[in-house]
Amino acid sequence: MKQIAILGSTGSIGTQALDVISQHPDHFAAHTLTAGSNAKLLVQQALQFKPDTVVIADEGQYDFVRDALAHLPIKVFCGSEALCQVVANAEIDIVLTAMVGFAGLRPTVSAIRAGKAIALANKETLVVAGSLICQLCAEHRVPLLPVDSEHAAIFQCINGEGRNEIRRILLTASGGPFRHFTAEQLNDVTPAQALQHPNWKMGAKITIDSATMLNKGFEMIEAHWLYGVKPENIEVVIHPESVIHSAVEFADTAVMAQLGTPDMRLPIQYAFSYPERLPLASEPLDLFRLGTLHFERPDMQRFPCLALAYEAIGRGGNVPCMLNAAGEVTNLAFRQGRISFPRMAQVIQQVMEQASFLPTPSLDDLFSTDAACRRMAEALL
Ligand code: NAD
Ligand code: MG
Repeated sequence: MKQIAILGSTGSIGTQALDVISQHPDHFAAHTLTAGSNAKLLVQQALQFKPDTVVIADEGQYDFVRDALAHLPIKVFCGSEALCQVVANAEIDIVLTAMVGFAGLRPTVSAIRAGKAIALANKETLVVAGSLICQLCAEHRVPLLPVDSEHAAIFQCINGEGRNEIRRILLTASGGPFRHFTAEQLNDVTPAQALQHPNWKMGAKITIDSATMLNKGFEMIEAHWLYGVKPENIEVVIHPESVIHSAVEFADTAVMAQLGTPDMRLPIQYAFSYPERLPLASEPLDLFRLGTLHFERPDMQRFPCLALAYEAIGRGGNVPCMLNAAGEVTNLAFRQGRISFPRMAQVIQQVMEQASFLPTPSLDDLFSTDAACRRMAEALL
């Protein structure tokens, strides 16, 4: 029986993780559930899953959650500091990081220091602090189990390959809803259009990042840290069907890929059950119905966020942290209707040019970089 803590249980990944847990009550238990501000759903989940602990980050909702669960032996905490403390509970085996953005970094670091296996959905943690996180995981002998579908695919492709070197990663991307839009058309796209992802139903922030392809840039950086492959050997392949979840090429040109219908519950479940595979009530792949699969090169002119991500990891140090901070500010500003779609990349680029470069940032340096770049991006909006 694995005891699981879910950071962000009310989100897209969090709710699907609970679905996986409910399909395997003999293998997994929800030990700790945490949410940002959706107190109502958090309470509903706590009533169903009877966790040991719940945390609501928004302190204003604490009374509501505590009162609603008062008749049960569930510990209730609030505030972001509590997230860092609850993940260290001795009973927890795996921490699923399913919060959005930079806010996931601090609790992930706490979980690693407490020796917990990390099921990593919060890719921002690796984008911002890849080098430090990998060092910490090695130091504490903690596995980083990928939940992002592409990285879970790569993880499955290299299973049993031992020391065989990965020559190239083929990182697949749906291309998002604006794959064939011209630069002129991209000027006028609305948040509502950008929130219509063709293949995946995800949280708002990652859906916008998919439309700009910043998400694929983040995933390239994530793959670099997880699998030690140089950015120039990670090739983004537009594959609109999202059936091949990514592939790996070896020295002898063999390419291994993982295929399936798009369903995040598979990578979530595999991170929980690894190395074992468990049944999953999901739609099996039907190649006859699909008939054809398509592939295209990404256009970094129309989608400059992808180029900015290669630049950020190429410069190294705190530059990916700048990319992430400016990305979070511009993503929200676009969703609020404050800036146009192409303006997001422009502001990110300006922040990456203006912020002070640190070649080997400490964790504290990254917090300062994040704060400074957020202010800078706000000022540029
Ligand atoms: P979401 O917006 O649907 O859910 C986010 C969750 O985190 C919610 O439970 C929310 O309450 C909580 N949260 C947000 N801000 C918080 C804060 N400051 N403090 C505490 N809790 C907070 O997001 P999502 O789509 O589930 O994505 C979660 C993470 O997983 C992201 O890093 C995303 O990039 C990654 N991811 C998501 C998908 C997907 O299919 N949704 C796929 C791959 C990776
Ligand atoms: Mg992904």
